Amino acid sequence: MPATVIVGAQWGDEGKGKIVDLLAQSSDLVCRYQGGPNAGHTIIAGGETFKIRQIPSGVISGKECVLGAGCVVDPEVFLDEVDELEARGIATGVVRLSGNAHLVMPWHVAIDQASERRLGKLQIGTTRRGIGPAYADKASRIGIRVQDLLDPKILRQKIEVALAEKNVWLERVYEVEPFDLDKVAGQYETFAKRLRPYVADTSLLVDRALREGRSVLFEGAQGTLLDLDHGTYPFVTSSNPVASGAATGIGIGPNRLDTILGVAKGYVTRVGEGPLPSEIPSPDQERVRQLGGEFGTVTGRERRCGWLDLVALRYAVRLNGMTSLALTKLDVLSAFSEIPVCVRYRLPDGTETADFPAHQSDFHHARPVYETLPGWQEPLGDELPAAARRYVELVERELEIEVSLVGTGAERERVVSPRGLEPVAGR
Ligand code: GDP
Repeated sequence: MPATVIVGAQWGDEGKGKIVDLLAQSSDLVCRYQGGPNAGHTIIAGGETFKIRQIPSGVISGKECVLGAGCVVDPEVFLDEVDELEARGIATGVVRLSGNAHLVMPWHVAIDQASERRLGKLQIGTTRRGIGPAYADKASRIGIRVQDLLDPKILRQKIEVALAEKNVWLERVYEVEPFDLDKVAGQYETFAKRLRPYVADTSLLVDRALREGRSVLFEGAQGTLLDLDHGTYPFVTSSNPVASGAATGIGIGPNRLDTILGVAKGYVTRVGEGPLPSEIPSPDQERVRQLGGEFGTVTGRERRCGWLDLVALRYAVRLNGMTSLALTKLDVLSAFSEIPVCVRYRLPDGTETADFPAHQSDFHHARPVYETLPGWQEPLGDELPAAARRYVELVERELEIEVSLVGTGAERERVVSPRGLEPVAGR
């Protein structure tokens, strides 16, 4: 299908990077439509591990890559990534950056860090990379965009206007050091020289590619339950990871999107605060965390682990208009003799629901109702053992959606299609 969106179906870190990398092999263009330099995709290819935060992971396969208007870009992170990729023999001339994307400025990072510190126990658990504050300024119409870098006079003016307010906040409210206009302007003018060749009209470029029948992959960062509008607010990200965000974030019509592939782990994880009804009790939680390597790619933070939550996943199927599902990291569950799956929530009034609660207090108090399946307790190869197939079939039956891919290991090759029961990579 020419336009395919890959969207995280849980709280992020679902292993989207690997699925994007796999499908990028047969795509012409790979686009990011939202989010900033905290995506932290991990891709293991040709025995090498790549950790990419800002640039679409398709760059590793040499595909034309787009960062759309819906993204926020930290020029320093972007250029560091460019340098690292180039040093490892990966050409970055294929990357295109929307002039409408907003810039993460140094004060965004400073405010993000200071405000999380101030919130203390109430903190959101942001990655403290300035992404939220950059989106906030975008909504307040005082953001600085990539295209502002192209004119040093405009750039300096905008930095000056922003600093007049931000420095007051930084000094008086957060009691941290203010920024110096000349220093910031000089630094961003240097970034501008290096960024200029990457800037393009990405909406036009993607639209043309689709008209020409080329295949375009849209990779979402974070996940559905972190969506600003539909996620578990306020423990969410500051943009719209849901599939329809691909249309707005890139600047194409929603009717151009053909296939929506959701990516979910065979269990769930969540970073930072907020409810997680199917959170696994100790010591199994630590076991899943160790086996699954559930520590933040960028931050190293421990992720909380839960059994697969089909109530939340059903919600993700609905919100994204998902056409099929990739179930990653099923191999992590091979260690368990029994595997609970959360099929419904029990609410405080004693009722049970298969649909995600519309009100946060219901979600906060939801208790999981489990169906427990026998484990397979053997390593997963190209053919799924019967118990693993039953696990996949339960997901398909409950969600009324096809599981088209199953992840059986960290490497690019370790993906099978449960229908054909054959390795998918390299097709
Ligand atoms: P993303 O942001 O959604 O790409 O998630 P991460 O970068 O956190 O990726 C999840 C981690 O799981 C990475 O280290 C991947 O290499 C790894 N991974 C992806 N798929 C599988 C799988 O099927 N099995 C195992 N064991 N690891 C996987």
